[in-house]
Amino acid sequence: MTALALAASACGTAATGGAGGGSTTGAGGAESTSASGVGGDKATATTGTLATTGATGSTGSGPGTGQPPAQQVYGSAFHNLTFEIDYVPGAEPYTGAVVGFGEVWDVAKTNVERLFLGSNKVVTIPRTLDKMEKLTDVTGADFTVDQILAIAAKHRDQPSSGATVTYYFVWLDGYYRDAGGVNKDVLGVSLGTTGVLAMFKPVIAGTGSGTPGLNVERYVEQATIVHEFGHAAGLVDNGLAEQSPHNDAAHDGHCTNQDCVMYWAIEGTSGAITYVQKSLLSSSTILYGKECLDDAAKASAP
Ligand SMILES: [Zn+2]
Ligand SMILES: [Zn+2]
Repeated sequence: MTALALAASACGTAATGGAGGGSTTGAGGAESTSASGVGGDKATATTGTLATTGATGSTGSGPGTGQPPAQQVYGSAFHNLTFEIDYVPGAEPYTGAVVGFGEVWDVAKTNVERLFLGSNKVVTIPRTLDKMEKLTDVTGADFTVDQILAIAAKHRDQPSSGATVTYYFVWLDGYYRDAGGVNKDVLGVSLGTTGVLAMFKPVIAGTGSGTPGLNVERYVEQATIVHEFGHAAGLVDNGLAEQSPHNDAAHDGHCTNQDCVMYWAIEGTSGAITYVQKSLLSSSTILYGKECLDDAAKASAP
C-alpha cells in the first residue's frame, strides 16, 4: 500500500515502497508493489484491504476491492469515470466561480478529461455540495490510513463496477497521521490501489492565509485533487508504464518535470502555493506535463 500524499514527507514514505513492480499490470502486480512498499503502521493498516482484494479478485465488494488496476482504467472496457465526494461539515470543498477565472471545479474536470483523452471516457465529477454527501458521523482531529479506509468502507456508495470506474474522495476536518505522527503539511493522500483519496481541509484552507482574497487556497485544493488523482491513475510509474524516464528517483511516484503537477516539490504547502501562482493563476489549465500525458496516451492506445 502506498499512501501517496501531496506533501514531501508523506510522499517520501510512500515512495520508498512504490518502487519496482509499479509498472506491472494486473491486480497481482499492484499488490506486490504495495506489499513490498510499506513500512510501519501503514503496512498494518492496509495489508488487510489489499489481501482481501487478492483473495476475492476484481469482483469483490467494498472499498479497495473491485478497484481496477490503474493501467486497465485506460482501456476501452471502462466507459465511465466518476468521482464520489463526501465531506465533513466545515471541511466541504470549495465550489463556485472565481471572478476572472471561472468555476474552480473546471480545473479537476479539465485535467481528468485530458489524462483520459485517448480513451473516450465520460467523466462525471460533482461540483456543487448538493451532489456531494455530508458525513455527520466522522469526528477526530487526525486520521490514519486505517481510519480513512474505515470511513470509505462505511460511506463509499459507488464502488467501481462494470464499465464504470469510481474514485472515492473524502474531505476531512483534520490532519493526516502516519507512522511519524500528525503531519500538518499533508494536503491530500491517495491510498494505493483502493481508489480512496482523502483531502485535509485545514491544511488546504491555510494556504490562503498569506495572500487573502487571491483564492490561492481554492486552486491549491484543485491542484491537490489533480495530483492525488494522478497517483490513483498510475502516475508516475505507479501502475502506468513510463514512456520516457521521468519517475523522480529521489521522490518515487513523482515527475522529474518541474512544471508538471506530479512534481514532488509542489507537495508541501509552500511549494503548492508557488506552483498555483505560477500555473493556475496565470494561464495553464492542463497541469500534467507532457511526460505524464504520454504515459496516459500509451495506456489508452497501447
Ligand atoms: Zn504525491
Ligand atoms: Zn509529469
